[in-house]
Amino acid sequence: MKKVLAFDIDQTLNVAKTPIPDEIADLLVACLDHFEICPISGQKFDQFLIQIVDRLKNATPEQLKHLHLFVAQGTQYYRFNGTEWEQVYNYPLTDEQVAKISATIEQAARELGFWEEDKLKPGDEIIENRLSQVTFSALGQKAGTEEKYAWDPDCKKREKIVARCKELAPEFDYEIGGTTSINAITPGMNKKFGMTHLLEELNVEKSDVLYFGDMTQPGGNDYPVVEMGIDTITVRSHEDTAYALRGILGVI
Ligand SMILES: [Mg+2]
Repeated sequence: MKKVLAFDIDQTLNVAKTPIPDEIADLLVACLDHFEICPISGQKFDQFLIQIVDRLKNATPEQLKHLHLFVAQGTQYYRFNGTEWEQVYNYPLTDEQVAKISATIEQAARELGFWEEDKLKPGDEIIENRLSQVTFSALGQKAGTEEKYAWDPDCKKREKIVARCKELAPEFDYEIGGTTSINAITPGMNKKFGMTHLLEELNVEKSDVLYFGDMTQPGGNDYPVVEMGIDTITVRSHEDTAYALRGILGVI
């Protein structure tokens, strides 16, 4: 029998960016009695708490010890020690990488006339070091939603910034996200990195793991897991995941 059930989050356990529904919460709590449960996605730790952990109200501290959070594509790992969530490892960018990325994005944005320092709220910043990635937010973190939506609705400004960044520092990957953001990472910090560390931390073999994801096609962000040779169930939504989990729990 599999020892580990690993899950992509958005569109696999929930509707994108929203907390997991009650049905998924109940199924995950039931699974904690039989498996190690490992959500893995590109989001931040706080978002894992909001979307998953806060929804598992019926889980006991003992059950939560079997929940493992692979944050920021598994470049950070958190587990529950019976009282609180502790960080087990973190693979941040180096100071040199952060400095290079920050200078690159600033130069690109300034050259193109998209460096909006004068629009920042007091104490806000355009470039933020999120440890495993550096994030450019054109109007800062504190700007209003409407203002953000209006800044680059067709992504054209950010596409220009990314194109220039690739010329200046091609050794990094740049992803457009949210409404005003660009995330810069080192290549290879994808789910293969996270899943490889998962196997090591949980001391299991690939064959012990069953993975659920919605983007398992070549080019999708779950594809690196498929490529590793880990058994994968492709789902269209959390409803498919619920269906599969009911089946798994039914035969235990
Ligand atoms: Mg997904």
